[in-house]
Amino acid sequence: MSPLFIMKDCISTSNKQETWDLAQEVLVNLGKVNVILLSGNLGAGKTTLAQGLLKHLNAKGPFMSPTFVIMKKYPVDDQFKAVYHIDCYRIEEDDVLNLGWEEIINNKNNLILVEWPERIKKIWPQNYLHIDFKVMGKNQREIKISKNKQ
Ligand code: ADP
Ligand code: MG
Repeated sequence: MSPLFIMKDCISTSNKQETWDLAQEVLVNLGKVNVILLSGNLGAGKTTLAQGLLKHLNAKGPFMSPTFVIMKKYPVDDQFKAVYHIDCYRIEEDDVLNLGWEEIINNKNNLILVEWPERIKKIWPQNYLHIDFKVMGKNQREIKISKNKQ
């Protein structure tokens, strides 16, 4: 994380494009982290930010919300080789482990995006970026980013 990024404890976006722009900034500042946990209520912007990340990584769309498929894999070919977008809304730790979680997160060529990460708290990796969305108004979102390193 660049110092500037850390200092911006709380970011505010007022439309989808600004959240996509933030996704670009997140990508540039990922460092060695390859797991991004996306928290916030329904409609807060988790999938929107994930779509921004996929777009910036030149993944091939359509970028669906993974709510019904649970996990979607997108091949990419630059900063990472693949992006895994996982939605834990309807699943729990065991289900995610059965998807091959350990192997997926241990491969540094993979970027893993997790919506509803609170549901799988027991298997959070040691290093991750946590992005928390709060709805402040119709288009206004307050976004907190923190990096965990144990
Ligand atoms: P979640 O995945 O958290 O349930 P989505 O990203 O699917 O939420 O939906 C967010 C909705 O809010 C989208 O319809 C998006 O266009 C809209 N929206 C409005 N303003 C913003 C903003 N500043 N950031 C992200 N999404 C926004
Ligand atoms: Mg979503």
